[in-house]
Amino acid sequence: MTAISIDPNIWSIVSRHLLQTRSEKEQAAFLFGQYEADLSTIQVIDHQLMTDRDFASQSGDYLELQDTTRAHLIKRAHMQRACLIEVHSHPGSHRAAFSTFDFLGLQETVPHMQWRLRGQPYVAIVVAGNTFDALVWTVAARHPTALHAINAGERALSPTNLSVERWKGIKNDSF
Ligand SMILES: [Zn+2]
Repeated sequence: MTAISIDPNIWSIVSRHLLQTRSEKEQAAFLFGQYEADLSTIQVIDHQLMTDRDFASQSGDYLELQDTTRAHLIKRAHMQRACLIEVHSHPGSHRAAFSTFDFLGLQETVPHMQWRLRGQPYVAIVVAGNTFDALVWTVAARHPTALHAINAGERALSPTNLSVERWKGIKNDSF
């Protein structure tokens, strides 16, 4: 099982950005990770916070990146030989889980990202309140797997794991 290791200061910068108290809109950030072949740990080496200009659409329950932003992120990951970890927020929600919008979006974007980044793994994280959930796509897997933890310095943060089983259900029900 994969864990993400991140500098605690970077994690708090990212968390603060995602959960801006006055914002009712979803926010997002991307982390860039390096990992060993067994994928036991992804070490975050770089990050980029998304601003209003990076979104083609940004509301309380939906986000869509500008094509130019996506292209820039892919290029930045490619240059660092890093995998991409997308993180977004659900304002007003207290227990993090990916929405049906998220599932539909991820079904489209993950294969594209993996193709553009030559088979790198891909991780999606959603944060809500002080909880988060995560899905990890390895190169060959049909379904995403759960993330073990985010290790931010001394703290090991566990996902809610509400989404990983639901993903399989949605895949089977609707596609
Ligand atoms: Zn979402």
